[in-house]
Amino acid sequence: MTKVAIVTGGTRGIGEAISLALKEMGCTVAANYAGNEEKARAFTGRTGIEAFRWDVGDHQACLDGCAAVAEKLGPVDIVVNNAGITRDGVLAKMSFDDWNEVMRINLGGCFNMAKATFGGMRERGWGRIVNIGSINGQAGQYGQVNYAAAKSGIHGFTKALAQEGARYGITVNAIAPGYIDTDMVAAVPAQVLEKIVAKIPVGRLGHAQEIARGVAFLCSEDAGFVTGSTLSINGGQHMY
Ligand code: NDP
Repeated sequence: MTKVAIVTGGTRGIGEAISLALKEMGCTVAANYAGNEEKARAFTGRTGIEAFRWDVGDHQACLDGCAAVAEKLGPVDIVVNNAGITRDGVLAKMSFDDWNEVMRINLGGCFNMAKATFGGMRERGWGRIVNIGSINGQAGQYGQVNYAAAKSGIHGFTKALAQEGARYGITVNAIAPGYIDTDMVAAVPAQVLEKIVAKIPVGRLGHAQEIARGVAFLCSEDAGFVTGSTLSINGGQHMY
């Protein structure tokens, strides 16, 4: 499958595993990142996948970044909106900046990336967009009104855009990961994490590769009849 794929936040954590899974599928992959040059350089050294720096929360930067990828690697067929941040805190302590930054990057990034690539997919009659949501967007989470709202928004965005893309051969799906062993989860205090793991029926954190395999399936030809869906990969922690 020689398709060109962009994975936002594709240089580490879940994104790195997704970049690698798409490369293994035969895609030419561009991994986007925000600014951690050291991790991006190490990633390219390990994988041979080129890294492209831009802020997905910046509309113009997404248009320019996607144009640069297309010029270098070819028209973009697949977008995985994986870049995400947390700025946790209970409402009383959450600043407007904490709210706005999470909405701007986590949800705004999906809009910006779709605006930059959807038209081309439509013209060519084929496309795959996979948005990384979260169990906390499905179920809510104490201290995360910003993150839960943005991730919940991603699930709505996915279903709406899926309806627009269907007749043009573009599928739009979401994956809602549970707790996955990455830097983001390493930031959770150990006592809190212990309580979280106790609530996961499978009895452990997930691995980034387990999310990546789901993304790879949704990006494949075999998944052409799957659109507007959310695949929960969470060890049974939240079922509905
Ligand atoms: P990490 O914090 O490990 O990595 C985040 C990646 O996103 C990095 O590559 C980072 O770039 C990039 N990034 C952050 N902000 C921006 C931005 N403004 N523009 C471009 N890239 C950006 O995250 P995870 O791998 O843990 O999470 C990946 C996704 O999965 C996120 O959307 C997260 O919300 C979601 N998720 C994660 C869960 C988990 O348990 N880990 C659970 C549920 C959902 P750089 O390296 O330059 O900083």
